[in-house]
Amino acid sequence: MIRTRFAPSPNGPLHLGHAYAALVAHDLARARNGEFLLRIEDIDGERSRAEFVEEFFLDLAWLGLNWDSETRFQSRRLASYAEAGERLKAMDLLYPCRCTRAEIAAAATQMGPDGPVYPGTCRHREVDPEGAAWRLDVTRALDMTGPLEWIDERAGPQRATPEIFGDVVLLRKDLPASYHLAATLDDAADGITLVTRGMDLFPASHVHRLLQALLGLPVPVWHHHPLLVEPDGRKLAKRRGSPSLGDRRRAGEDGKAIVAALRQARFPAGISLSSGVDLSA
Ligand code: GLU
Repeated sequence: MIRTRFAPSPNGPLHLGHAYAALVAHDLARARNGEFLLRIEDIDGERSRAEFVEEFFLDLAWLGLNWDSETRFQSRRLASYAEAGERLKAMDLLYPCRCTRAEIAAAATQMGPDGPVYPGTCRHREVDPEGAAWRLDVTRALDMTGPLEWIDERAGPQRATPEIFGDVVLLRKDLPASYHLAATLDDAADGITLVTRGMDLFPASHVHRLLQALLGLPVPVWHHHPLLVEPDGRKLAKRRGSPSLGDRRRAGEDGKAIVAALRQARFPAGISLSSGVDLSA
């Protein structure tokens, strides 16, 4: 049986792009007689807000997308992230780093999927771990695992190239996790067999595949779907004027009709589905 998920972060309201992501994950599960879970990715204490979570529930009900079993909250799973972090430290795969964004930008010689690639400044340095972030030594990790592959059911088999991100942060200075570590552990804990999310997160799956190998986690299949984009090719965003689902709901629009239209690839004027997405958006 397959199990998919929709995993929004409550740092802003949902918009049409999220409705599309939720319906893709929902419909894949329903079409294959599987399960669809909702996970709230609320570990970012500074940006996560409970009001947005309340809105998510209202939005999904209005769209007519029902999820199975209880909602998962990342904020309740910090202990499991910390435990995995300790295991990776014990494997000598993490090192502390106190570099600032500006220092990294100044020293970087390469761009990666998330911006300037960390050039490894602290990899072989003595750094006070108190209040530091912890980075994964990706070269050492890959030496340990050997070559890895993963499968996206739309794009086909992929060779994992987590090195495109450089030594990613796995434990933030303010948290016992980062997106990569939390999402990977949660997908395993939730028994997700088909990780369904937008193409913008395709590169992240290289890192997640590596973490699965290091931590002995089951390996799912991935389904990265195209994103809804504006005429300029950039993904929809509230800050660029795309109304939130809450705005549409309160204005009396019919959520189920919106889902029906999205299912038939009928989009509002100026919006389209893109595979060649400008990931800088
Ligand atoms: N929480 C992420 C987001 O809102 C999605 C994470 C995922 O699907 O892996 O963009």
